[in-house]
Formats: sequence, structure tokens, C-alpha cells
Amino acid sequence: MADGTGNWALVLHGGAKEIAPGKQKANRLGCLAALTVGAGVLRQGGSALDAVEATIRVLEHDPTFNAGRGSVRNTDGEIEMDAAIMDGATLDIGGVAAIRAVPHPVSVARLMLREQPTLLVADGARRFAEAHGAETCDPASLFSGTADGSHDTVGCVALDTSGNLAAGTSTGGIEGCAPGRVGDSPLPGCGLYADNAIGAAAFSGDGESIARTMLAARVMQSLESGPPQPAIEAAIMRLGRVGGEAGGIVLDRTGQVGWAHNSPHFAVGVATSADDRLRTYLSKNEEVAHD
Ligand code: ASP
Repeated sequence: MADGTGNWALVLHGGAKEIAPGKQKANRLGCLAALTVGAGVLRQGGSALDAVEATIRVLEHDPTFNAGRGSVRNTDGEIEMDAAIMDGATLDIGGVAAIRAVPHPVSVARLMLREQPTLLVADGARRFAEAHGAETCDPASLFSGTADGSHDTVGCVALDTSGNLAAGTSTGGIEGCAPGRVGDSPLPGCGLYADNAIGAAAFSGDGESIARTMLAARVMQSLESGPPQPAIEAAIMRLGRVGGEAGGIVLDRTGQVGWAHNSPHFAVGVATSADDRLRTYLSKNEEVAHD
């Protein structure tokens, strides 16, 4: 399936949200730091899966974003996180939901990738993490005090030089949500999807709205017959049916990029082998103005 043209591409996001002026620099620098790491993996011939995991780990470590360190609290005042990663070559998916006290949920999801279940939740996810030697942490170390309840979920899609695609997501969910609530982020066809024959997509925003409209599945369907930018725009338009804010990133199987949002801002980073520049944006308007 992989055609291996030697092209690579990576798109990441730091959430579909409103970014206050005082937080714009942190969002841009956070995306740039993660983009530098992810693009570095691909430039050196690393795999799309490795690039996605490495990119998301940087974003999880940055308290600017609602993922890993900096996650928001549920109504019990606890942090429960969701994450997933998908391999477009094999259609394997690893997901964890409502997991506590791990600094890098995406890496637990990566450990799940070749396992039979596609999703483990709560104590089951945590027990899996411990049994497989994933890093764990004091839950208090995840509280940053910077979380403001906005959609700072993170995500990434990548194409490697062998033609393999991957997608990943990681989130602390929605501030003040019910304990045990699971959003779109670990659900294939909703918050993410990757298929080497088609493309890869990842979303942020109101999880229940994204799940009800199956946004990643919709993008995949559109990509089968058209380019990525109209595909992602059409997916975001579908939210009109149920209401809600979201942003999405997409790559087609050749590395063409698309992204769109109906939120005031969407923190995005883009790098491709076409010119090897690292670009960050806080809204689509900014891209239009600068490129
Ligand atoms: N989509 C995430 C969720 O609903 C939240 C977000 O994107 O910030 O859990």
C-alpha cells in the first residue's frame, strides 16, 4: 500500500478554542517546539507513528495545552485523560480513556497499538500502563493551574518517507465534565483516523458533537474522491447539524495538507518536505494572510 515517494509531512494542533492575547505566544511556541521534534523524526527517515507520538509527548509536557500536564479537572476535581494513536498501514488502533496519573497518555495508547482491544478505560487503562512499564506520576504533578477550560486538546497527523500515515490525539477532556466521561479523542472515526490508502485526520473541540457527526469518518469518505482542504471544511460544516465548536487537521496519502475550524482560534503547526519550513498559525485567517 505504501508508495514511499520520499515525501514527508506533519500537521499538529494545540486545540480549537479562543486564545487570549496573553496566551498566544505560549501556544505558538508550544506548537513550534513540538513541530521541530516531529519534523526532525520524519526528516531523518523515522516512522509516522514515531513522529506522531514524539510530537504529542512534547505537547503533553507543555502546560499550555489540555493534555498530560495541564489537563483540566472533572467535577470531582480529578484529571482523567483520553488518548489514541492509529497506524494507517495496519489500521491498528491503541486508545486509553479516563486514565489517571500518567504524564504521557499517548505513549500508553502506543503500547496498546498491537493489542487486541482498541480501547481500555479508567482502572483497566491504568493497570495496562503499569503492567507494560509506562511512565506513571503523582496526579498532583499534572495540575498546572494554567488550564482555563478551553479546548486545548492536542493532535497530530504524519506521513513518513515510506508512505505510511499515522494519527494521534491526547486530551484532558472538558473542564468540569462528569467523572468517567469519554470524548471523541480516543474514538476512531470521530476524533481521529488513519489509512495509508486514503489519509489521516485528527480533531479537537466539543467531543460529543464530534462523535455524533463522526467527523474523522466523514473526512476519510470525502478524501476518497477529493482533496483535503474541501474535505476538512465539509466536515466542520457538518457540526451545524448539532452545534458545537471544532477544528480538524488532515493529510492525504500524498502529503497534501488541509485544516479548518469554526472556533475563534485553532493552534496549528505544519511542516512538509516540499520546502522543510516550520509554520505555525493561530487561525486560518492568519495562514491566508501570511502564505
Ligand atoms: N475533544 C475533546 C473532548 O471532547 C476536548 C478538546 O478538544 O479540547 O474530550
